[in-house]
Amino acid sequence: MDPNPDTRDQNVGDIRLAIKSVHVLSSGSAEQHKEHRYGTWMPRTMWALLSRSWVKLPINYFLIEHRNGIFLFDTGLDPKITFDPTYISSPIGRFLLRRIFRFHPMRESRLDKVVTDAGFNPSEIKTAVISHLHFDHVGGIDQIPQAGLLVSDREWAQLSLPHPEREWVLRDHIEIPGAQWHPIQFQHSDDPLLHMFDGVFDVAGDGSMVLLPTPGHTPGSLSMLIRREGWSPILLVGDLTYEAGLLEKNITPGTGDAAELRRSYAKVRGLKEQLPDLVIVPSHDFAASKDIAHATGLLH
Ligand SMILES: [Zn+2]
Repeated sequence: MDPNPDTRDQNVGDIRLAIKSVHVLSSGSAEQHKEHRYGTWMPRTMWALLSRSWVKLPINYFLIEHRNGIFLFDTGLDPKITFDPTYISSPIGRFLLRRIFRFHPMRESRLDKVVTDAGFNPSEIKTAVISHLHFDHVGGIDQIPQAGLLVSDREWAQLSLPHPEREWVLRDHIEIPGAQWHPIQFQHSDDPLLHMFDGVFDVAGDGSMVLLPTPGHTPGSLSMLIRREGWSPILLVGDLTYEAGLLEKNITPGTGDAAELRRSYAKVRGLKEQLPDLVIVPSHDFAASKDIAHATGLLH
């Protein structure tokens, strides 16, 4: 099944110059516990309730200017969560959220404004790839009703489980009227570079943006490999890790399935062995802008 045929390029196999630019967009920043970001022996409920140490995290997402149109990787945080007490409908969810994240009220970081400030027209966004369904990655989907929303079928299946909100998958902000969700299936690839992954999904049909299953943070989390001639390859990994260096050192965070995270880390490190200049870019890494500027030749 081709979920989004109009994004497919006719010049299959030509990845040389299909991508024009990659931009880091920001929903602002928040704070999380040190144990959450850097890992701990404590179970999640314990550090959420007991930890007193907070560290800052940026909330980023990405815009990719491709010759077929504008693509997003994630859509950031809806600023309403920072000032609207009803954004999370369950009282337990509101109680726990305050123990996991500290948000400072923001009103200026809605996706339509952020995209416009970056020099693009939000109504021209063709497709948003969603790395996983956590609220800080789907917060802008109501601003781009025309866009196809690609998510892995394994991630989408979480919505059918009882109480997905307990894992921060907020159905009220995902199953919104008019949203054009397309759950995708990864397909076999003959590319020897990608053989260790359980399938691939080629977003534009030209090899320039390839989705790879990297489960562990959530069951259906995915990453996107961006390739263009003259650039270092870029791997956007969502929340697979909070800092690229932690993945390279095999340090898992305080949340997610640690064994599955380590399996995905090994695959990403295997990819980096084959592509030594691969730049790994997590969504909540302060180095994202600098690393993408280096990869795309804007910084030397
Ligand atoms: Zn997440």
